[in-house]
Amino acid sequence: MSKKGFSFFIPHFKFLISYFYTVSHPSLTITFLGTGTSAGVPMIACECPVCTSPDKKDKRLRSSIMVQSENTTLVVDSGPDFRYQMLRAKVKHLDAIVFTHSHKDHVAGLDDVRAFNFFSQQAMNVYASDMTQEVIIREFPYAFHESKYPGVPDIQLNTIALEPFEVGDIPITPILVWHLKMPVLGFRFGRFTYITDANRIDDSEKEKIKGSDVMVLNALRKEKHISHFSLEESVAVAKELEIPQTYLTHISHQLGKHADVDAELPNGVNLAYDGLVIKV
Ligand SMILES: [Zn+2]
Ligand SMILES: [Zn+2]
Repeated sequence: MSKKGFSFFIPHFKFLISYFYTVSHPSLTITFLGTGTSAGVPMIACECPVCTSPDKKDKRLRSSIMVQSENTTLVVDSGPDFRYQMLRAKVKHLDAIVFTHSHKDHVAGLDDVRAFNFFSQQAMNVYASDMTQEVIIREFPYAFHESKYPGVPDIQLNTIALEPFEVGDIPITPILVWHLKMPVLGFRFGRFTYITDANRIDDSEKEKIKGSDVMVLNALRKEKHISHFSLEESVAVAKELEIPQTYLTHISHQLGKHADVDAELPNGVNLAYDGLVIKV
């Protein structure tokens, strides 16, 4: 490339990237199915002001989102509340489950794909890393036996690593994040990025997030935590990556009431809540 051609290319590179994401991705509807940490909010037997709050936004099922284009519906993770989340959001058809990692609060509800198997007469497509698949097979061994008991979940495992892949017409780029020492996958869907259960993101992976219009990031509580970003740490990541709108998820009752905490946040950062729907 000539020197002139090169200097033309550089300033337009950013534009080209955003243009690529605009033209090559379908518009998506994101539904927050759950925005709570592993114990959920309210937590069993807890009588703190958050767990007893009458505000609907203080009721958080375990973290999961639904991502929909016109012809494809997927969910990220199927935690212990998966069945109720599908009922509450009136989901009639599900094309796939994409997993971030194998912790119980993200995989425990997988058995309930049986209803989708029954109505679609097809296996449920599950996308997970090798490490996550190992746990899925250990936790739900009966779904993978040679001779299956009738009615067990019918699951088609698809291996993902860091290469981009597609579910229907939804393109997905995995993003590696760290949950203390455990690798966890975040996902970029066009101009939308979803990350949960992280407390560290390498600089090279941050590059994949930049340019997103909307990012979801986990923020457990105000105090520091060994394997989750705190509120302050999450807000700092949102600012560093210059994301126009960030929603915080995987929230503990220790963070405080939704209305109080949301009001304290800087412009462009909000707490997510169960039932929130956004279009990207
Ligand atoms: Zn979790
Ligand atoms: Zn976790």
